[in-house]
Amino acid sequence: MKGTVLNRVEQLAPDLWMITETDSVHCYLLLGQQKALLFDIGYGYEDIMPLIRQITDLPVMLVISHGDPDHGLGANHFSDVWLHPLDYGKLLCNDTAELRRRAYEYRVNKAPRFKPYIDEQTFLHTRISEHTQPHFLREGDRIDLGGKQLEVIHTPGHSYGHIMLLEKQTGRLFSGDQLTEHNIWYFLSPDEQAPFADAIHSMKKLLAREAEITTVLSAHGKVPIDMSYARDLLECLSEELPRTYGQDKPFHSFMGDGWQHFYKTVNLIYSDARLQEYLGHPVQR
Ligand SMILES: [Zn+2]
Ligand SMILES: [Zn+2]
Repeated sequence: MKGTVLNRVEQLAPDLWMITETDSVHCYLLLGQQKALLFDIGYGYEDIMPLIRQITDLPVMLVISHGDPDHGLGANHFSDVWLHPLDYGKLLCNDTAELRRRAYEYRVNKAPRFKPYIDEQTFLHTRISEHTQPHFLREGDRIDLGGKQLEVIHTPGHSYGHIMLLEKQTGRLFSGDQLTEHNIWYFLSPDEQAPFADAIHSMKKLLAREAEITTVLSAHGKVPIDMSYARDLLECLSEELPRTYGQDKPFHSFMGDGWQHFYKTVNLIYSDARLQEYLGHPVQR
């Protein structure tokens, strides 16, 4: 099972598949005895249900790690989506003609080979709220797939309502964007992204449970990673970045500008506003 041009499929374990959209976003399909769970859905350039149906006939519960367009826009292909309530507004704010247009152009400019396979008009004119019912998950909630339980861990930082899922029996942690080898965006407006102090708290919470976590499956970049990424991000945000930010280089993207910081496994794109808030005094470069 290789998938399609837009969605590559890779089996990681007897019960776990990774579906990677446009070589960029990893979505995970986990099979229980009674239900399957899909963690993140990507932009949804195509309906991946036919791909999933080649793997399983089980009912599929769609959970998204947070409301960013690369994780949630594809929810319009599903009748229901589960997410943290703090990110539902963010998901809908990202589901506009303007943002879909920007996301589409960013993707086809970066990787033109995908353009012939994306139905541009359908992508631009579909809206999640017309098709999809939201349901909310909060810290400590349990999801039972039949013989397999997942726990919701609320990990604000990159977004206010970011969640991870910890599979109790195997210790697999599905970490979304908050723990990844890829760059972590942290330069959007304070309406969309939580203070550094929240991300620091999230990392401490995860590290306190490190003994339960065997492997980390993130939404971008290398898979799997491990908990050293949580330790490195904690060190970076709490101590190292405030000392060394003066050497950082500017970063530009279709969503705005920030500064790029490297430390051990961390690749962080952040704003002066967020850093200044954490420092408690103006940033000086
Ligand atoms: Zn994100
Ligand atoms: Zn992402």
